[in-house]
Amino acid sequence: MTQTLLVTITGPDRPGVTTALLAALAPSGFPVLDIEQVVIRGRLVLGLLLSTDGATSEARDAATRAVQSAAAELGVECDVAPGTAEVGARHAERLLVTVMGQPLCPAGLTAVAGAIAERGGNIDRIVRVAAYPVTALELEVSGADQDDLRQALATVASESGVDLSVQQPSLTRRGSRLVVMDVDSTLIQDEVIELIAAHADCQDAVADVTTRAMAGEIDFAESLRERVALLEGVPVEALDEVRKRVRLTPGARTLCRTLHQLGFRIALVSGGFHEVVDPIADELGVVNVRANRLEVVDGVLTGRTVGPVIDRAAKATALEEFADAYQIPLNRTVAIGDGANDLDMLARAGLGIAFNAKPVVRDQADTAVNVPYLDSVLFLLGIPREEIEAAEPCPVAADD
Ligand SMILES: [Mg+2]
Repeated sequence: MTQTLLVTITGPDRPGVTTALLAALAPSGFPVLDIEQVVIRGRLVLGLLLSTDGATSEARDAATRAVQSAAAELGVECDVAPGTAEVGARHAERLLVTVMGQPLCPAGLTAVAGAIAERGGNIDRIVRVAAYPVTALELEVSGADQDDLRQALATVASESGVDLSVQQPSLTRRGSRLVVMDVDSTLIQDEVIELIAAHADCQDAVADVTTRAMAGEIDFAESLRERVALLEGVPVEALDEVRKRVRLTPGARTLCRTLHQLGFRIALVSGGFHEVVDPIADELGVVNVRANRLEVVDGVLTGRTVGPVIDRAAKATALEEFADAYQIPLNRTVAIGDGANDLDMLARAGLGIAFNAKPVVRDQADTAVNVPYLDSVLFLLGIPREEIEAAEPCPVAADD
């Protein structure tokens, strides 16, 4: 254990406050073990931990008087507490808990903090990652087991309505990653097959099968065959109309632009159709697409698909193949999806995110996001809103 002095300063901030306080302590020569500073609404909170190992009590008293007199001159509160600390212990077995809400209320945060404390965890640090379009906080937690905490926080998430993620602050969070996204009801707000079905007057029948398939009640491949069969006879021009009606999910452009700026790879893996997904991918600068293909003969849909069926298993395989092609290990992959056919892909990825998902998916994924903004995924990756906004516009995608 190391002998320490903990100096805590609070008060109105202005340029030079930190400098003046540190200058007052400089003659002591005590090594700085830790320092954290934050300014909220113009008010400074500064914590400074100094090692006083081997120092005389006169030297400690002199340093204490010096910083207290500097604080008095600056008009800030100063508390100096002697004690001991285990140097380096702070970074052992840390977890990062991301908390998101719109709004994020004290009751939700109380539930989160309570669950962490009950699992023996301590919140060492809190940083705000975003204030818009959601409030997102990153909590650094020590002393808790990841699986145990994840389970406890999943209950908090469903009861309090905040989005929560528990991750290890390992190197996999840094450097290039592969982000694989589902399309229908994830990247876009629509289910494309239902938009096509409107042209065949079988919207209700198709929607019914879609709902059962996405909830995991029926096999996806079979449901695809059933639904595509209902589209027989739809003129191919209808697909142009469908493309015009597709609505991107809020935040989709920001997410793709930012990931490209970071040099990340993006892939779209869809149980929908190339005919509609490809133009969306082009618009977003995404070059990797895997989807089903509709068979067209004499200008009309035949009610069949051609080529391999992209179902639940094929989505997971696609994630692996894209990762392999880019030589990105699976623990550096992120998968985002909402339906039961995304479950294998979410499980296979390093971070699986259930995005405004069906309950069966939400319950099984690492992380569930229920705020309706796709760019909130960036906050889970630890990318602060301010840095996203400060980034240069990037009209041409960096993917190749
Ligand atoms: Mg979907």
